[in-house]
Amino acid sequence: MSKKYLYYFSEGSKAFNGDMTAMKNTLGGKGAGLAEMTAAGMPVPQGFTITTEACTQYYADGRQINEEISADIFEHVKGLEEITGKKFGDNSNPLLVSVRSGARQSMPGMMDTILNLGLNDEAVEGLAKKTGNPRFAYDCYRRFVQMFADVVMMVPKSLFEVEIDKMKEAKGVKNDVDLTADDLKELVAIFKKIYEENEGRPFPQDPRDQLIEAVKAVFRSWDNPRANVYRKMNEIPYEWGTAVNVQQMAFGNSGDRSGTGVAFTRDPATGAKKLMGEYLINAQGEDVVAGVRTPSPISHLQEQMPEVYEEFITIANRLENYFRDMQDMEFTIEDGHLYMLQTRNGKRTAQAALQIACDLVDEGMITEREAVLRVEPKQLDTLLHPQFDAAALKAAEVVGKGLAASPGSACGQIVFTAEDAEEMVKSGKMKKVVLVRLETSPEDIVGMQVSQGILTVRGGMTSHAAVVARGMGTCCVSGCGNDNDVKIDEEAKTFEINGRKFVEGDWISIDGSTGNIYGEQIATVAATGNKNFTRFMGWADEARQLLVMTNADNPRDAQQAVDLGAEGIGLCRTEHMFFAEDRIKAVREMICARTVEAREAALAKVEPFQQGDFEAMYRIMGERPMTIRYLDPPLHEFLPSKDEDIAELAADMGLTFEELKNIVESLHEFNPMMGHRGCRLAVTYPEIAAMQTRAVIKAALNVSAETGKMITPHIMIPLVGEVKELKYVKSVVVETADKLIAEAGVDMKYQVGTMIEIPRAALTAGEIAKEAEFFSFGTNDLTQMTFGFSRDDAAKFLGAYYDKKIYESDPFQHLDQVGVGRLVKMAAADGRATRPDLGLGICGEHGGDPTSVEFCHNVGLDYVSCSPFRVPIARLAAAQAAIKNPRG
Ligand code: PEP
Ligand code: MG
Repeated sequence: MSKKYLYYFSEGSKAFNGDMTAMKNTLGGKGAGLAEMTAAGMPVPQGFTITTEACTQYYADGRQINEEISADIFEHVKGLEEITGKKFGDNSNPLLVSVRSGARQSMPGMMDTILNLGLNDEAVEGLAKKTGNPRFAYDCYRRFVQMFADVVMMVPKSLFEVEIDKMKEAKGVKNDVDLTADDLKELVAIFKKIYEENEGRPFPQDPRDQLIEAVKAVFRSWDNPRANVYRKMNEIPYEWGTAVNVQQMAFGNSGDRSGTGVAFTRDPATGAKKLMGEYLINAQGEDVVAGVRTPSPISHLQEQMPEVYEEFITIANRLENYFRDMQDMEFTIEDGHLYMLQTRNGKRTAQAALQIACDLVDEGMITEREAVLRVEPKQLDTLLHPQFDAAALKAAEVVGKGLAASPGSACGQIVFTAEDAEEMVKSGKMKKVVLVRLETSPEDIVGMQVSQGILTVRGGMTSHAAVVARGMGTCCVSGCGNDNDVKIDEEAKTFEINGRKFVEGDWISIDGSTGNIYGEQIATVAATGNKNFTRFMGWADEARQLLVMTNADNPRDAQQAVDLGAEGIGLCRTEHMFFAEDRIKAVREMICARTVEAREAALAKVEPFQQGDFEAMYRIMGERPMTIRYLDPPLHEFLPSKDEDIAELAADMGLTFEELKNIVESLHEFNPMMGHRGCRLAVTYPEIAAMQTRAVIKAALNVSAETGKMITPHIMIPLVGEVKELKYVKSVVVETADKLIAEAGVDMKYQVGTMIEIPRAALTAGEIAKEAEFFSFGTNDLTQMTFGFSRDDAAKFLGAYYDKKIYESDPFQHLDQVGVGRLVKMAAADGRATRPDLGLGICGEHGGDPTSVEFCHNVGLDYVSCSPFRVPIARLAAAQAAIKNPRG
């Protein structure tokens, strides 16, 4: 049997037996929602879904819709004609459809939509006659020509918008809705001319051609630059493809008893349990999202059309109860009849996600474990970001107010285009920018991403800017032109609000939680606790099986991490302690020393600093484990490079300038990352390892005595590739440590382990485990050395790899599970075969990346270690991994 590529809305629910995941994978989120609503008997304009598999087939066929699929599409059009009693391309009662994208995960505004498809010069007359409303018919036709030209043929939208503005000016009207049937008819003629001039052929009159071209355009939009950026940002795999929904049009633009809107069952910014939404009378869908006119709040519908409002509330409640989650719905009212165009689990801010998860548990709708799965780990990040300092905020002057579209605080210099935002930040000309726009459009995505905040003049809570900013966790104030006196000139780069004028580069602050706009810089402070956060993280901690440690090498970071729930330190990079001004000189002396005696003299200067640092860290960590990694980086990182520094150090060391300069030059390496670093330093200069051991053990003895709690130091030897290397360095550590412990007369235990960060270490892990009591996977180096490209330079060429779809993501951010992951899995298994109680963890950057954390859970590691601010993310990711795939 050939593959099924198309499903009527009425088929979906049964075909997938209510399996929402399978249904979403095949029909996309929108298609699945339409199928479920149809099955539940809700008022849904009928149609069919072309599956995501048809999209991948389109790409496999060289961006063509093959004959089998196109024949099937026309079969389904016929079926739809029977369902609706209208005929595609008919000039008395034409069937008009919308063609809309719908991926597994929603990608708001990133892909394309075409409305009113099926119109041509004859059908428009038929529609006018049938409805007795020529204004409406021509409004549909002008919209269709414009959208088809823009989306399918890529004729710039602005060419058409200019003509609408000209027409409005000529007729002396302000809004599109004030244009008459004749004005619109004239516009259609102009639009078709623009189309022909740009395309070199007339506007297509055959609806079948229109449909196939439109479906292709939606498939193609899966691969457009903004969709690719969004996908990368949200880790949506390219192979998924998008489904396409072909649906009978419901007309929100057919008069004053018609309209269109979007609504959420709960507030997507705060999570509050109240219906939130907005609508526009006499309009079509894109008008609301594009922010062309400012919509009315949904509550007004209660007065305007009470029965429609009641029906909508009933449906919204049913949908939320059915999906057991906050719903994001699109609807259209046609001559007083309500139609549902979409429902899906709504995007929300981190704050709202927590509020909704807690409320749904309290309402008995979901369990605590289900709640844990409802919040994106990465989202937690935004909760921990700084807020305006309360006192500074009070003192600041509010210059205007817009809609509180996406919470958070943003302060930055004004830029007026997304390109400027990108350019200013990239070039370093401005560190923080706030993007101020009339309205944003999907092309602005990269500029929005680099901005601290977004301020728009037009548009409501569901405008493009608002939706995308919430998704990104970026602060946004939208629609400040609604209630303020605002002038903006994006070309001249000026913005004026209530008489206060701003130009590019001026500072502005916006508060996405209140909508307030301030014409100055306002100081920020770290975020404070949130009771939902504490409660929610408690559920996560209960579920997880991985321990979560942190990478910290100073007391401040250690404390920060403990406050954020870290259970220990998985990596303390000792070299980071050497850069401080009061010790760098002694470290340089150590490196440049030419004899053991000179090196020991320099090390004696460093030792008290190092011991003091460890003591401070132990005081914070108490009995929580702390893994101290011995000196690792290429030594040139510490060397003096400026002549005056060389001269100063030479004087201290009793050398001439020339002598020291020669030493510095002799230490130059062609490939420092693979040079004299890691345990190679301890092999050549064992006195460094001895000094570090003295510092660790003495610090642990002192703090144990001070606190009465017995500390167990964990000592980690980096960059091992051969068991004998480890054995040698370990012998230095053991000899030094045992002597000190014996002298102290206490029963202190300690462990010596290693990092697995060289492929050879992974390949010989069974041998290495004979000497190592624990392994910590250093996946930064392991990735670098497995791929054979430098972690410092990869960014220079990875862009080309993403463009060519060779790699989808940065392997230094998301663990490459196929290659590097295989080494990790194998080394873990081989290590444990030698030493069943071998401790296993990860301390590369991947320890704070949710998909990598899931991998670590699945391969049986004991812990992940990540930077302090990512600790909550790792806790939640570990919990989700354990719920999805519990280990025995
Ligand atoms: C690693 O290589 O993954 C690691 C944690 O060590 P560093 O980043 O210090 O090389
Ligand atoms: Mg490393």
